[in-house]
Amino acid sequence: MTIRLLDDAVIGRIAAGEVIERPASIVKELVENSIDAGADSIEVRIENGGIDLIEVNDNGCGIRKDEVPVAFQRHATSKIRSFDDMQELVTLGFRGEALPSIAAVCDTVLETRSRDEEFGTRITLNDGQIVRQESIPRQPGTMITASKLFAQVPVRLKFLSAPTTEAAQVARIVTQYALSYPEIKFKYSSSGKTLLETTGDGSLTNAIVSVFGADSASNFLPLETYVSEDGKFAISGMVTSAAISRSTNKQISVFVNRRWTNMNRLVYAVELAYQGMLMTGRHPMAVINIQIDPELVDVNIHPSKNEVKFHDERYVFAALTKTVRATVAETSVPVSISTQGFAGFDMPKTEDHHYTEKPFIQPKTIIQSGPRYVQEDTKPVSFDEQEAVPKQAMQQLLPVLNVIGQYKTCYIIAEGPDSLYVIDQHAAHERVRFEQVMKEYKEHKCSSQPLLDPEILNLTPQQASYLTELIPTLQEVGFDISPFGEKDFAVRAIPAILIGRDWRQVFKDILDREGSKADDFIHRLMATVACHSAVRFGQKLNMDEMKELIRLLEKAEMPHTCPHGRPVMITIPEQRLLREFGRLG
Ligand code: ADP
Ligand code: MG
Repeated sequence: MTIRLLDDAVIGRIAAGEVIERPASIVKELVENSIDAGADSIEVRIENGGIDLIEVNDNGCGIRKDEVPVAFQRHATSKIRSFDDMQELVTLGFRGEALPSIAAVCDTVLETRSRDEEFGTRITLNDGQIVRQESIPRQPGTMITASKLFAQVPVRLKFLSAPTTEAAQVARIVTQYALSYPEIKFKYSSSGKTLLETTGDGSLTNAIVSVFGADSASNFLPLETYVSEDGKFAISGMVTSAAISRSTNKQISVFVNRRWTNMNRLVYAVELAYQGMLMTGRHPMAVINIQIDPELVDVNIHPSKNEVKFHDERYVFAALTKTVRATVAETSVPVSISTQGFAGFDMPKTEDHHYTEKPFIQPKTIIQSGPRYVQEDTKPVSFDEQEAVPKQAMQQLLPVLNVIGQYKTCYIIAEGPDSLYVIDQHAAHERVRFEQVMKEYKEHKCSSQPLLDPEILNLTPQQASYLTELIPTLQEVGFDISPFGEKDFAVRAIPAILIGRDWRQVFKDILDREGSKADDFIHRLMATVACHSAVRFGQKLNMDEMKELIRLLEKAEMPHTCPHGRPVMITIPEQRLLREFGRLG
C-alpha cells in the first residue's frame, strides 16, 4: 500500500476516539467549557441517553463571532498559550480538542453571543466541517447541540450501552459538577424529565441535598479543613458519618482543584479512613475537594482529563485519609441507620432544613480552578521559595495503618494503602512518648511525683559537678534534686512519667554522657525518659495495644524515626512484592 495522508474527516474521527467515548464524555467536555466560561447557570438536556441529542446551554462569556470557527479547529484554545501556562492552570480545559472532537462524531450546532457583541452567531457543522454560519439574535452565553452521536462511526455506536445506562452515566457527570460547583445552578433533564436541579447558591450542603436527598444529606459532616503549612495544599468538603453506608463507592467524589476525577486510589484513600467503622462491602459517601497548587499536579495525563498525577502522591493520599479519619472518628455513635437506597434525583427540595455549612475553601495562595475570564489577583508563590517545608511535611505524614499482627514480640506488622509496614514497636513507642514528654515540657506541666523515701545518689566528683550544672533543667522537667554533702545528691521527687519505671537508670544514662552540650540536654533527657517508659523490644502486645500504639504513631509529628534517629519502620511497597514474586511482567 502507498503511504498517504488521511483526509481531515478520518483524522478527526480517529482523534475524537480518545476524547469522546460515549454521551457522558461529551456532556463532561461541554459542562467544563461552560464552567470555564464563567457561567452561573448550566442546563443539560439529553434525549435517548444522549445518543439522539445532547444540549448544553450556559450564560457564560460566549464566543466572539470571528472566533467561532476557530473554536472548532483542533488544538485551538483560549485557555493556554504556552506549555508553561499549565503550571498555573486555572481552567478545566486546555487541550483544545473537545469541540472539534464532538463535531467529528455528531451533527453539531453552536449558538453563542459574546457579552460585548450585539448579535449572536450560529454555526452548523456536519462531519466536522462547517456548513453554515449566520448571525442571530440571542442573549449572551453559549448553547451547543450535538445530535446523532456516532452516526458516521457505526463501530462506536455498537459499543454503547442501553440508553438508560448512558443516561445514568450522563447523570453521574452532571451530578459531579453540581457537587463541585455549588455556586452554579445546574439543571439536568433526560427525555423531557427534569432529574436534577441545584440552587446554585454556593452552599455545598444544598448541592448535596439536591443530589442525594435531604435524608442522606443529614448524615454528612463537614470536614475539618486541612491546609498544609505553605498553603499550597488543602482538603475540604463533607463526608458521611459511619451511621450510614452504601453498597457502592460511586458516591465518593474526590475533586482536584474542583475537577472531577475518576481515580480509584483517591476513593480508596477516603474509604481507608472508615476502616473498622463500616461493615465489609459497605461504603461511605463523600464530596471532597483537594485544592493544590497547579505546579504540584499534572492534569495532562490523558486526553479525557479524568486522571491527575500528583508530584507527591503519598502525601496527598495520607493527608486525605487522615483528614477524613479525623472527622469521622470524632463523631459519636450512629444516630440513625438509613436503610433506603440511593436517594436519587427525584427527592423533594427541603428549603427549611438547616445544616452546618462549610463550603469548599479556597486558600489564598492557591489559585482557584475557575473562570479564566475572571481576573486573578493572587498569584501562587513559587514552590522553590519554600521547597524545604512541603518536602519535609510530605515525608512525615503517615497513612492510616491497619494492624495485622506481631512478629517475634518485637515488630508490629501493619498494612497501609500501598505498602506493608514492619514497625519496631519499641522505637515507635519511644517516638510517641518522646513527643508527649516534649510537649509537656514545653507547656511546663511536667508533673512531679514525690518519693516516699528520698533517694541518695553517690556520684564521682566529675559527675557531681556535671549534675550541679543540670539541676535547674532537671527541676524544670519534674525532678526535685539537691546537693546532699560533697558528692551526694538527694532526690525527693521524680517526673510522673517515670513512676513505675527505672528512673535511676535514666539518671545513669544522663550522667554517662556527661560533658555533652547543654542545649541538646533536654532532647537527650526526654529521649531517655521516653526510652525508659516505652514498651520493650520483645514485649508481647495484644491486638488492642498494638492498634492503640499505631493510632498514636499516626498522630506523631515525625513518625518515621525514633528520638535517637533510628528508623521506626520499614515499608515494603506492594509493587516490590509483586516484583519479587515475579508478578510484574
Ligand atoms: P478547551 O476547552 O481545551 O480550550 P474546547 O475545544 O473545549 O477546548 O473549546 C475551544 C475554545 O472554545 C475554548 O478555549 C473557548 O475559548 C471556547 N469555548 C468553548 N465552549 C465555550 C463556552 N461554552 N463558552 C465560551 N467559550 C467557549
Ligand atoms: Mg474544553
